[in-house]
Amino acid sequence: ARIVVYAPSSEAAAAATRSAFERIRELDSILSDYQPESELSCLSRQSGGSQVKISSDLFRVLSVAQNLAVRSHGAFDVTAGPVIRLWRRARRQRALPEADRIAAALDLTGFRWLTLDAKQQTAQLAKAGMLLDVGGIAKGYAADEALKTLKRAGIEQALVALGGDIAVSNPPPGRKGWTVEIASLNLPGAPKPRPLLLHNAAVSTSGDAEQFVELGGIRYSHIIDPRTGKALTGRRSVTVVAANGIDSDAFATAVSVMDPQKGLKLIDATRGTTALIVVQTNSGIQTWKSKRWRE
Ligand code: ADP
Ligand code: MG
Repeated sequence: ARIVVYAPSSEAAAAATRSAFERIRELDSILSDYQPESELSCLSRQSGGSQVKISSDLFRVLSVAQNLAVRSHGAFDVTAGPVIRLWRRARRQRALPEADRIAAALDLTGFRWLTLDAKQQTAQLAKAGMLLDVGGIAKGYAADEALKTLKRAGIEQALVALGGDIAVSNPPPGRKGWTVEIASLNLPGAPKPRPLLLHNAAVSTSGDAEQFVELGGIRYSHIIDPRTGKALTGRRSVTVVAANGIDSDAFATAVSVMDPQKGLKLIDATRGTTALIVVQTNSGIQTWKSKRWRE
C-alpha cells in the first residue's frame, strides 16, 4: 500500500498515515483468505451451517459483491473461492487443473448459495465446503477506508494506492486533480491511454499484467470465469473509474470476465462509473470506451 498526503506538518502526516495503514491492516485481518483466522476464513469454515453474525466491514463488502453478482449474471462472484484456489495452485505448480476438480469446485460455487440478512447483519453459506474470496473487491474497499481514516485525522488531500486500485480525495494544492497513469496492455502497438485527472474518485485496473501462468503457449490469468471454472486467457486490461474504490475494483474484475459489449452496457447503466477496455484479438489490439470515458 502506498499513501500520499498533503498535510499542515510532517507530524500530522505521520500520525494520520499511521492510522490509515493500521486500518488497512485491520481490514486485511478481516477480509484475507490467506489468513486462516480472518473473519472471512472463519465464515467459510461455517459453510453448510446456519446464519453467522458478521462485522459491518465484511457485510458491506459482501453486499456490494452480491449486488454486482446479480447485475453481472455471475461474472463477478465472491463464492468462487474453490475455483480460484485451483487456479492459484495451477500457477504455482505450472500445471492445469484436472476437469473433475474444476467440476467439483464449480459445484461449490454460486452467489445464490450466499444469503445476507441486512437486518440481522448475518451471512449464510448454504453448502458445506464453500469458500469466499474477496480478492476482486477488498483492496478497493480498503483504499476507501484508508481515505476515510485520513479525513477523520483532518487530511483531505490524499491518494491511497493498493496495487492497481487507487482512491483519491481532494486535489493537491493548486491542481485540478491527481494525475494517474493507466498501466494498460504492455504490448507493441497498444495505445497508451491518456493520463487521468481525478479527485474524490477511484480508479482500478484489472488485467493479467502481474499474476498469470503460461502453459502450452497459453496465458492463464488470475481472474476466472465463475460460470465455467476456467481462467481467462489472452491479453486484456480493464480500467474502471468510479466514485469509490469498492466499486471501481469490483467492476474492473467483473468487466474483465464479461464480453466487452455487455460489460460496457453494465458500466453505462451504472451512475458514476466509466470504463476503458483494451483487448488483444486475432486482428490486433481493440479498444472499447464507455459513454462517459471522455468526461
Ligand atoms: P488484482 O488483484 O490484480 O488487483 P482484481 O481486482 O481483478 O485484480 O482481482 C483479482 C482477484 O479476484 C483474484 O486474485 C481472485 O482472488 C478474485 N477473482 C478472480 N476471479 C473473480 C471473479 N470472477 N469474481 C470475483 N472475484 C474474482
Ligand atoms: Mg478488482
